[in-house]
Amino acid sequence: MGAASCFYVMTTPAELYALQEVDLALDRAMARLVEIETALGESEELVEGRQGAEERRGRVAELRSQQTEREWAVDEARAKASVVEKKLYGGSVRNPKELEDLQADLASLQGQVRRREDALLAVLVELEDAETELRSAEAALSEVEARWQAGQERLRQEKGQLEPEIARLQEKRARQTQEMDQAVLGLYRVLRERRDGQAVARVERGMCQGCRITLPMSLLQKARSGVGLTQCVSCERILLVS
Ligand SMILES: [Zn+2]
Repeated sequence: MGAASCFYVMTTPAELYALQEVDLALDRAMARLVEIETALGESEELVEGRQGAEERRGRVAELRSQQTEREWAVDEARAKASVVEKKLYGGSVRNPKELEDLQADLASLQGQVRRREDALLAVLVELEDAETELRSAEAALSEVEARWQAGQERLRQEKGQLEPEIARLQEKRARQTQEMDQAVLGLYRVLRERRDGQAVARVERGMCQGCRITLPMSLLQKARSGVGLTQCVSCERILLVS
């Protein structure tokens, strides 16, 4: 450093280490916030549950309309048979040929009534199954919804605590960096990018705690002197001797 540097307040490894602690806390808080934001909103399970219940509701509605149609068809056939029956047994028709024709008509209409009743019964059986499926799909869905709601509430609460915490850390960081040397901050940023967020490493028992290498004595002495910044010969982290 040149003579001009003497007018600046020196940035010490301890100050950088304190900054790093704030930055690591910020990294964790921001990562968690991203996780929360991703998890907020409808889950796949919920969307699928709703789709499943909706499909079953549609099936039940379709079968109910089939039921109505088939009931009408049965009523229609019964009414026709009843008209022929009345004619046949009403006593107004005496001609044997005509009576024989009416008998045949009645038999054919009664056959139609039976076939239509069978068709109606088949729909009723299907409808019962579909309604059972719908009820269990709806029960499963309300469980999923309750679980999802509770989860969302927890996430919203956590987010509500996290956001002011992030703001607090950012303010603290701004205060910490206010007086810091820009070149030192630049080095710190580069090292943090390269070293998984850890630009500053403590030295314990002559070892860099960033990469566990035993540091040369000359480097240790320089680090202990507190003059300028000393970097690890192996991982390049800024060394902090406590
Ligand atoms: Zn190291």
